[in-house]
Amino acid sequence: MNKIKKYYIIFPIITATISLIFIIMTSFNDKVVNKSYSIFKEDLNSDKISTVIMDKSPKMKIILSDGDEYSTDNPYTDTIKETLLLKGVEIKDESTPPLSKSIPSVVFAISLISILAIVVLKARNNSSITSMDMEDFSKNKKAALDFDAVAGNEEAKESLMDIVDFLINPEKYQKYGARMPKGVILYGDPGTGKTLLAKAVAGEAGVPFYALSGSDFVQVYVGVGAARVRNLFKKAKSHGKAVIFIDEIDAIGKARSNDKNGSSNGERDQTLNALLTEMSGFGQEEGIVVIAATNRLDMLDKALLRPGRFDRHIEVSLPDVNAREKIISLHLKNKPHANLDVKDIAKKTTYFSGAKLESLVNESAILAAKDNSNCITSAHIESAYSITLAGHEKKERSYLKEEDKLLTSYHEAGHGIVSLLLLPNDKVSKITIIPTTKGAGGYTLTIPEDRSYHRVDYLKNKIKVSLGGRAAEEIIFGKDKISTGAEGDISQTTDIALKMITEYGMGETLGLIKLSSVGSLYSSYGNPVIEECKMLVNTLYDETLELLRENRHLLDKIALNLLEKETLYEDDIKELTI
Ligand code: ADP
Ligand code: ZN
Repeated sequence: MNKIKKYYIIFPIITATISLIFIIMTSFNDKVVNKSYSIFKEDLNSDKISTVIMDKSPKMKIILSDGDEYSTDNPYTDTIKETLLLKGVEIKDESTPPLSKSIPSVVFAISLISILAIVVLKARNNSSITSMDMEDFSKNKKAALDFDAVAGNEEAKESLMDIVDFLINPEKYQKYGARMPKGVILYGDPGTGKTLLAKAVAGEAGVPFYALSGSDFVQVYVGVGAARVRNLFKKAKSHGKAVIFIDEIDAIGKARSNDKNGSSNGERDQTLNALLTEMSGFGQEEGIVVIAATNRLDMLDKALLRPGRFDRHIEVSLPDVNAREKIISLHLKNKPHANLDVKDIAKKTTYFSGAKLESLVNESAILAAKDNSNCITSAHIESAYSITLAGHEKKERSYLKEEDKLLTSYHEAGHGIVSLLLLPNDKVSKITIIPTTKGAGGYTLTIPEDRSYHRVDYLKNKIKVSLGGRAAEEIIFGKDKISTGAEGDISQTTDIALKMITEYGMGETLGLIKLSSVGSLYSSYGNPVIEECKMLVNTLYDETLELLRENRHLLDKIALNLLEKETLYEDDIKELTI
């Protein structure tokens, strides 16, 4: 319906334009010279006049026999008509203007009215857009998800089970005087299944699911966001029990001090206030729960987190190896697949989110379909794994010059060797010099160990692995021949070094102070911090150079093998390094 209306507005605009052009043109045509009444008299006497057009205006239009036209004052005498008629002049009385003149004005007026009507209707529609979203969701009710659709995330599911029970039976909790949360915040990395969990809560409880995203409120007209929130709650309440889901709540509920401009954002504040008002406006017996999702809990305005608002916070973390195995199995379930070593895939996919795992399985299925294969094989998974991490291989690579390939070979071998030597627990699963469509000239895949925290020596070694590419280039080709291929590595290095010094309390300048917590003072620390980062990275780079120089034979061996085979897998690398 909305679409048709958008489209409809074109018609009145076109007709309005055309009629306007018409009106302007005819009014230009009407511009005839004005002559004095005595000239008219003369013309009349010399029988030069063929037609006179009169209307109620003070002018009448004269058309001469030779086609010339002019206007002159209408004397409004009763005899004028008779005089003219006696002279054989044709008289046209246009006291009501001819249709050809009035039609454009009428069309123009109608078009303007239509445009206005459509604009008003659309504005109204926009503020009630949520109700359309909701209708869509309520229609999906039958296909609702339950907790079986969410693999892993056991703690989050358990915590949400309470909410499900409360939704099914709010009176029970009321009887005991228990205050159940009106709002729940799910926080964690993107793609970890927050939306999925919220839908599952609604599915398990058998109540409708209404969703809205905080980003919908960004850059809308003032007042529209607040109206959407009110609409959403009105609609949800009219259906009785419900789960209201607000994705990306940080877009409206970001703490004001975190605002980059420092200025307050009126629209966002209004929306936030509407949300808080609505949340305090319904009673617990109504059985409505608001679930919000965010990637960063610490960014949210404290007003949102007070009791009676979003007072239950549930972390939805990246899956560990067991959860990954379950998620992969779940997504493989309805797809034909060979006897795959799911445990092994789970091991290789450290730090993958649920969404990334889903995409890995999906990518494998696409590859299997392209191959017309009977089922998804481990080879498909292997290719999909590289695609998910590094992008598609570039098919056309004849343009690659031999000397560039040699440079890439040494660069990637540099990463690989430093990783092998310094981080033996992070497996190097693949080194390749095949460029990807994501823009990498080649890449080295390592599978990091599952860890919830890292030690300072690990972080330093991580930086060295990153610098290994550039270091190898410098050793082999000299300082003048280093390339831009290290850009990504350098940005990764900078990130880690900065975090060590400004966030993890591992530096000298700030000691155990966290830079982002010192507020406006932090600008005075900027330069010394960068200075320290530079020193740290320089030292680590020198150590990396030394390490690679000591292992030059290995560097040459791997690089030359890479140049020949283009891709080396874990086993090939093992063989070369024994
Ligand atoms: P978020 O809301 O946290 O960004 P989503 O819930 O939108 O993440 O997850 C995106 C997709 O990833 C889901 O539709 C699902 O296919 C997959 N996914 C994520 N987490 C899981 C999980 N724990 N179990 C199964 N699938 C998952
Ligand atoms: Zn690199």
